[in-house]
Amino acid sequence: MSPARPRSRPRSHRAYNLDRVVAAVREHGAVTRADVERITELSRATVAALVARLIDDGTLRELPAAGETRTRTGPGRPPARLALTESAGLVVGMAFGHGDLRVAAATLSGDVIAERHVRLAVDNSVGTALDTAAGEFSAILREIGHPREDVRNVVVGLPAPLDRHTGRVMVNNILPGWVDLDPADGLEERVRRPVLPENAVNLGALGEMTYGAGVGVLDLVFVKVSTGVGAGLIFDGRLYRGASGYAGELGHVQVEANGLLCRCGSRGCLETLVSTPHIIAALQPMHADPLTTADVARLLEAGDSGAARVVGDAGRTIGRSLADLCNLLNPEVVIVGGELSRPDGALADGIREAIARYAQPGVARAVTVTTGTLENRAELMGAIALAIRRTAGPTTHAPE
Ligand SMILES: [Zn+2]
Repeated sequence: MSPARPRSRPRSHRAYNLDRVVAAVREHGAVTRADVERITELSRATVAALVARLIDDGTLRELPAAGETRTRTGPGRPPARLALTESAGLVVGMAFGHGDLRVAAATLSGDVIAERHVRLAVDNSVGTALDTAAGEFSAILREIGHPREDVRNVVVGLPAPLDRHTGRVMVNNILPGWVDLDPADGLEERVRRPVLPENAVNLGALGEMTYGAGVGVLDLVFVKVSTGVGAGLIFDGRLYRGASGYAGELGHVQVEANGLLCRCGSRGCLETLVSTPHIIAALQPMHADPLTTADVARLLEAGDSGAARVVGDAGRTIGRSLADLCNLLNPEVVIVGGELSRPDGALADGIREAIARYAQPGVARAVTVTTGTLENRAELMGAIALAIRRTAGPTTHAPE
């Protein structure tokens, strides 16, 4: 694949229009030729010629019609939708969890072409974590046979709030070794591509909105119940980070004035009652071997009544705070993520029940509580979605 090269001579009008077509496909997802005409305001004949050229040089491809849901415009096949191929450039998404790292390379249309998953104790050493991430980045490019120059953007998700102006990990006991570091700096040095860090729960929200349970929804709340409890907020199709980057820290809403001391330094935070370590602690007395979150997920799957009770109670406690959030924000969908979230499971049921009970009737009626469909890949897919959103400018198709 040929990487992007700076063009040394003025670009022709045709090259400019080719880039407009590519940008339309990149920014609007799988579009038809008619959509491209509308977006670019170019004529039908011009779009037809430009698309033919881009298919010819391998920048675009037509998607298979299977699963086509658009209204047929006449007899015969529905209009073909277009997607960018890997020759138009790539993005890489990375997502650090507490014990693992996921990395994927995708086209600018969001098709994942390679993905890796490694176990990693992310809290221990920042240097080791970044070295591992850089190693996985190189391995994935070797696997798909692309040079690093083909990667337009890298987005990396971290399970912590980040200062929205500096990109540094803010004071937070989840990642003690990472506080006040800019993970993008260290990673950029290693992968030699532009890197943007983002709070993983925000990426979960973007991932579900772009590829999962929230497709087509403009106002949604993604709630992740894990070692902590966090929310990613999407207003009017855009991620809301807040003035400094702390928006959505649902786990630190106070629910008990004299409750347990929280790792944030406050008291009685939601997290002190319902994060996975507390759920595990509640269930542990009934089990001989030490439980993990995955064990609790398996117990739920198997219909264990104790697990369903504890997780359902956690859902109701979270839902009580979420009801207030819903009163303030009036979202269309609440998407429940994290390892314990299952379709028709106790967690989402508990949350749904509490929102129905404690939110204003009009707010409760407007909101659907559902589980994420991307499961533990939501943050990774959100990283890809954000990396694509940040990619602008000419693509790598050959100049005239
Ligand atoms: Zn707290």
